[in-house]
Amino acid sequence: MNKPVRTRIAPSPTGFLHIGTARTALFNYLYARKMGGTFVVRVEDTDRVRSTKEYEDDILTQLAWLGLTGDEFYRQSERAGEHQKALEALVASDKAYLSKEPAKDDPTRTVEVVRLRNPGKPVTFADVVRGEITIDTADLGDMVIARSLTDPLYHFAVVVDDEFAGITHVIRGEDHISNTPRQILIQEALGYERPIYAHLPLILAPDRTKMSKRRHATSVADFAKRGYTKDALINFLALLGWNPGNDKELYTEAELLEAFTLEDIQKGGAVFNEEKLKWFNKEYLKQMSDVQFAGYIADAIPAGLDPARLTRLLPSIRERIVLFEEFKAGAEAGEYDWASAEPVIDPVRVVWKESTKDQTASHLTHIVSVLKEAPEQSWESIDSLKNLLMPYAEQAGKGAVLWPFRFSLTGKDRSPDPFTCAYVLGQDETMKRLQNALAIIG
Ligand code: GLU
Repeated sequence: MNKPVRTRIAPSPTGFLHIGTARTALFNYLYARKMGGTFVVRVEDTDRVRSTKEYEDDILTQLAWLGLTGDEFYRQSERAGEHQKALEALVASDKAYLSKEPAKDDPTRTVEVVRLRNPGKPVTFADVVRGEITIDTADLGDMVIARSLTDPLYHFAVVVDDEFAGITHVIRGEDHISNTPRQILIQEALGYERPIYAHLPLILAPDRTKMSKRRHATSVADFAKRGYTKDALINFLALLGWNPGNDKELYTEAELLEAFTLEDIQKGGAVFNEEKLKWFNKEYLKQMSDVQFAGYIADAIPAGLDPARLTRLLPSIRERIVLFEEFKAGAEAGEYDWASAEPVIDPVRVVWKESTKDQTASHLTHIVSVLKEAPEQSWESIDSLKNLLMPYAEQAGKGAVLWPFRFSLTGKDRSPDPFTCAYVLGQDETMKRLQNALAIIG
């Protein structure tokens, strides 16, 4: 007892890293770290038809991005020698036997598979999450554990590899519960010690159906591409099936390590609520420094945007978005073009829908005169510009004043508010654009 804890994540490279696999990896990682143990990554590529290098690369890249890199790494296909030795030992001790039989897919062909002599008893195991589970294995019969001495099936390879890697805790999705008795029978035949099992609750879509790749975005790469940060995803995934029994939601990694226990994993399905994930993302965007936030949106910052203007624009972008993809969409739609180049002003659209041309010109003239006389410090913050002009807008009509003000500066239906735009552009450019709009209105 009290062996050093060793956990593992055993993804099959038959698809991109799935959010559920990331959750399982996180729980294994947290438990290993918390116990001062070892976290193993094992790529289970025995399904040679469906496994690809592209999927394996994605899985390892995304795990690394999430900070869930293994302390040790194995690839199942590289352990074929060990699998074969274990199979031969079972056959030699008559716990398994070679069986010549018609192939399933083509009964005219004969194959020689390896079958385990099944004692046919009920198997009971203690699951940390679900308590004692008993499953009768009698109707499994002498199950096939390998297609040949060199081609083991999944259940066999998992058992041998877990033993080889000294895995003490098998923490994995609930969908594997029905596999556990078969794997225990194989362990017993091989004389291995049984690991501790903890089966994590299913991840459910908001309508409480199973998350499916077809109906829901489920790959970590997708979430990353859309702008979910690693910290937001980790925090969100940690609470997907782990219930520490209080209201705390924001956890740093250190806090997770402190609080995480296998005992607090819930039995009931864990609902994947993307709105909640968005809330986490927003919280983590708020925590970024300006430099970090600039890095976060860097890939979609319009070319030609002056760095000083960008710096002044950052807080407003940060306020407006929850996800990188929103900034990207806005930037591509030209919502920030005004910050890099003087807009062309449409003389009709600059007029608020409920105002006349003359009223618009008079509001803009008023704004120009207020800004001209404003003390220099008024240009040092968005709020001071707002304080300067908001009373007038409130009195004369917000739409009537603020629409042409904003439109004169940006030429766009959508953009940040006019005070932000004025602050970003600075006094000279703001005055120039307002005068220009006035001239265009005529
Ligand atoms: N390779 C299996 C899967 O991707 C996991 C096996 C296990 O965790 O025991 O579902």
